[in-house]
Amino acid sequence: MQDIFRHIDDHLNESLAQLTELCKLASVSAHPPTADAIAKTAEHVSGLLRDLGFEASILTKPALSEVEGPAPAEGSGSLGGQAVVYAEQPGRSSRTLLFYDHYDVQPAEPLELWSSPPFEPAIREGKLYGRGVGDNKGNIAARLAALRAWKEVRGELPCSVKFCIEGDEEIGSPQMEEFVEEQRGLLAADACVWEGGGVTWEGIPQLTLGVKGLLYVELAANTVNRDAHSSYGTVLANAAWRLVWALASIKGPDERVLIDGFYDAVRRATPEERAAVEAMPSEEAETLRSYGVEEALTGVRGLDYRLRHLFEPTATIDGLTSGYEGEGPKTVLPARAMAKMDFRLVPDQDPDDVFAKLRRHLDSRGFGDITLRYLSGERPARTPVTDPFVGVVRQAVMDTYEREPIIVPSMAGTGPLYPFVATLGLPTADIGIGYPESRAHAPDENIRIEDFRRGAKAIAALLGRFGEG
Ligand SMILES: [Zn+2]
Repeated sequence: MQDIFRHIDDHLNESLAQLTELCKLASVSAHPPTADAIAKTAEHVSGLLRDLGFEASILTKPALSEVEGPAPAEGSGSLGGQAVVYAEQPGRSSRTLLFYDHYDVQPAEPLELWSSPPFEPAIREGKLYGRGVGDNKGNIAARLAALRAWKEVRGELPCSVKFCIEGDEEIGSPQMEEFVEEQRGLLAADACVWEGGGVTWEGIPQLTLGVKGLLYVELAANTVNRDAHSSYGTVLANAAWRLVWALASIKGPDERVLIDGFYDAVRRATPEERAAVEAMPSEEAETLRSYGVEEALTGVRGLDYRLRHLFEPTATIDGLTSGYEGEGPKTVLPARAMAKMDFRLVPDQDPDDVFAKLRRHLDSRGFGDITLRYLSGERPARTPVTDPFVGVVRQAVMDTYEREPIIVPSMAGTGPLYPFVATLGLPTADIGIGYPESRAHAPDENIRIEDFRRGAKAIAALLGRFGEG
C-alpha cells in the first residue's frame, strides 16, 4: 500500500484544490433550493468521476406524487427530488463496493459568524474552512483521491466501485427508499461505505454501523372557533389544556413511552453490540458539562447511559405553541394549540406503524379530537458488528491509523441507510474525515488537513482489502 499512500501524499494539494472548487458551488438543498447550484454541482461531480474513468450519469428520484404512504406535509411538494449522481467502474476483482454520499449542503446562515466566506474555502492553521468541506464534499474528495491513486499507480481499481451521490440528504433524503427500490439492479453491490464518520479528539478512528429512524408529527387541538375571553374557562374547552393532556399521555416522568405496542419491534442489543458499546469511550461527562447539568435523565450512567443513547427510541416535544405568548398578561382562552414531536426509532420500529399506534393511542384515551399530521418518516437500520465487512473495514483502518478503531454499532442520529441495508441487503460502515470540532451544519465548518489525508488513505486501503477478500 505504501506506493498508493505516497501518491495520496504527493497529490494532496491537488485533492484539496479539487475539494475547494467543489465547495465553491453553493449546493444548498433547503427550501427554497438553489436549483442552479444543485444542477451545476451534480454535473461537476459527474465530471470528476468521468475524469477517473467512471461511467457517470444523472438520475432522478421518483416524484412525490407517485409515492405511496402517508400524505406528505403541505408545501413539501416543492422540496426534494434532486438529481442523484450514479457512477460505476469495473475493477480487478468483481466484488463491488458502493459509496453513498451527498453533494448538497446545509444553508450557511448566519453568515456573520463565519471567519471567512462559507463558499470561498480557505486554509488556516492546518484546517480547511468552508460549507461542505466536511459534510459531505470532503468525503467525496477523499474518496476520489484514493481512487485516483489506485488508477495512476496500479492502472486499475482493485475492486468494482459504484457511487450513489444524492442532492437532498440535508432535507431528509425524500423518496430515497423508492429510488433504491426502482434502481436496485443498478445499485447492486457487495457492501456499502456510508457518508460521514471521522476521528475522536484523541485521533481514534470511528467506524459507525447504523442509524436511528425518525417519525416527525404535528399534533393540534382546535376547540372553539375563535379565541375567547378567559372568563369562559368555566364552560368552553381550552385548546392548550386539551393538547397538554394529550401530550402528557404519550410519555411518563420515568421516560417510558406509553403508546401501546411502541416497544414491540425494538431489537435488543446483541452481546457483541453491548461489548462494542462497552469499549467505546464515554462522552457522558463532557455532554453533561457542556449542557450545564449534573446528571442525565433518570440518573442513568456509564454503560447504561451509552446503551440508552444508542439503542433506545425517544419521544421528543420539539415545539409547543398556543394562546398569548407576548409580554405581560392577556386573559385569553386559546382556540388552537399545536405541538411538533419527533420520535427517534430503533430497529425494527417502523415510522408508519408508530404513527398508526399513536393515532390509536390518542383515540383510545379520549383524544380523538387531537389532529395528527405525518410530516416525515425514515426507517432505522443497523449492520451487525459481526458482519465480515466490518472486519475488512477495521483492518483497512488499522493499516492507515495503526490503531484499533472504535466500533459504534449505531449513531443516535438518522440517515437514509434503511434501503441500502434492507432493500439492497448490503452491510454498511462509515469511515470519514471529520473530527469533533468539524462544525457540520454550523458556521466555520472545517476539517483538519491531516484527517483528510488519513481518511483518503483509509479508503484506499479499504479498496485494496475489499478487492482481495
Ligand atoms: Zn449534514
